[in-house]
Amino acid sequence: MRFVSYEYNEGVKVGALIDNGIIDLSDAGPSLKAILAIGPLDNLIKVAERRSPTVDLDHVVLHQVVPDTGRIICVGKNYKDHAKEMGGDVPSNPNLFTRTSQSLVGHQQSVIMPKASEQYDFEGELAVIMGRGGRHIPVEKALDYVAGYSCFLDGSVRDYQKHSFTAGKNFDSSGACGPWLVPAHEISDPQGLLLTTRVNGEVMQQASTQEMIFSIADIISYISAFTHLEPGDVLATGTPAGVGAGRTPPLWLKPGDHIDVEIEKVGMLSNSVKAETDV
Ligand code: MG
Repeated sequence: MRFVSYEYNEGVKVGALIDNGIIDLSDAGPSLKAILAIGPLDNLIKVAERRSPTVDLDHVVLHQVVPDTGRIICVGKNYKDHAKEMGGDVPSNPNLFTRTSQSLVGHQQSVIMPKASEQYDFEGELAVIMGRGGRHIPVEKALDYVAGYSCFLDGSVRDYQKHSFTAGKNFDSSGACGPWLVPAHEISDPQGLLLTTRVNGEVMQQASTQEMIFSIADIISYISAFTHLEPGDVLATGTPAGVGAGRTPPLWLKPGDHIDVEIEKVGMLSNSVKAETDV
C-alpha cells in the first residue's frame, strides 16, 4: 500500500493507493503529517483495506508527500564519489542543510528553472519520512521511528549555492518529493535499494543506498542529538555521483528536460523542467 497527498476536487487530501485507485482517507486526518502524529500507519492500513477506491490515480494531482511538513532536513555529500566530484573532502560527520516546502513540488508537477541562473542541476535521493518523534534516538533503534520512504529530487542551483547555500537549495519549486510514501515495513533493508536518476531517459546517477557514508539510522540519531524529530519530518539522505556539476562539460537542466528519480521498491518520481518565465 502507498500513501499519497492528492488533489481531486476540493483541496489536498490523504489517500491510500491500491493498484491505480485512490482510497479517500481524509476522515482520518487533514494531512499525512497530522495522521502520523496520531499514531503508527498500521491503523490507517487496516482502515484502507476495508474500503474501495473512489478515484482513479490518473484523475488527480499528486502533491509532495508531506505538504505541511515541519522540516525537510537534507544531508549533503553522503556518497563518497559525489563528495569527490564536487571537489570536497569526504565528510567525517553528516553535513546538514534544510529545504523549505515551498522549494518542492509533487510527482509530475513541473520543476522550475530559475531566471536568475543557468546552473540548475539534479540530485536523485532517497527520502525518509519520520513516523514517531523523538530526541536522542540511539542508532540501533532509529529505523523504528521511520514511517516510510519516498523519492526526492534535490534540485540545486549551483552558482547560488556557492554564495548562499540556502538560496541555491531553495529556489521555489526547484525540487520534488514523491510520488508516495511506501510504509517502512514493506522495505526490509532501506540500505540495499538501487537508486537511478535519468534525464531525458539517459541514466545519470546509479548507486545502491548501501553506499551512503552515513546510514539512515546514523542520520536520524545525529539529527535527534540537536532537535526533537517530529512525525512528518522529511529527511533527504544525499545523492550519489553523476550530477550535472560533476560532468565535463557540466550538464545543466533546461526547459523541456524530463527527470526521473527511481528507487527500487519505492517508486519513480517524474518531473519536467519549465522555465520560470513560462510559469
Ligand atoms: Mg542533495
